[in-house]
Amino acid sequence: MKRQELDSINQLYRGKLQEQLNEEVSLVFGDGNVDSRIVLVGEAPGKTEVEQGKPFVGQAGKNLEEFITILGILREDLYITNVVKFRPIRLNADTGRESNRTPTRDEIRIFTDFIEQELSVIKPRLVASLGNVALRCILKDDKATIGIMHGAPMNVKFAGVEFVLFPLYHPASIIYNRALKDVYLQDLHRLRDYMKKEKLMPCTV
Ligand code: URA
Repeated sequence: MKRQELDSINQLYRGKLQEQLNEEVSLVFGDGNVDSRIVLVGEAPGKTEVEQGKPFVGQAGKNLEEFITILGILREDLYITNVVKFRPIRLNADTGRESNRTPTRDEIRIFTDFIEQELSVIKPRLVASLGNVALRCILKDDKATIGIMHGAPMNVKFAGVEFVLFPLYHPASIIYNRALKDVYLQDLHRLRDYMKKEKLMPCTV
């Protein structure tokens, strides 16, 4: 039931976005357990995600493994999605090579409706957001800052659904910063403790 609803939403937005962006783009839709109470929201897919048509694979998949291991859950226990469903790229004029870039405010605005619909179908109890893009999209606050809000759960209402938002740093943003990486790991342990306390651990573990 939820799966069919999500499929229709995905197809609806595929058409809408093609019109709005005025070009054919490869979209990477949410993936995983549609009955999960826990949802992970990232920023946007990268190259490998577009190639495989699945969020958080490749290097980001390794980050996800760390997340899953610390929480003591399985990938199948989660529903995983991104705010922006295509890969925002920047072209290097000299080398002609493409690299990932942060989505623009306009791109985020275009996709906000989409993730609202998506979460209104999933109806999660807890959403872990990764980085500023997901945090700002869910709070609808461009000034929200992960550096201040990370690791502290808060009750939110998004698309008519009430859930606990647990903001985390984006794993890609902390790769070269050991101190932030430690904070990220501490936050993950806090999240695990919170999920245990609130009885949000999936039934399969
Ligand atoms: N891969 C994703 O699917 N999302 C991110 O935010 C980063 C990498």
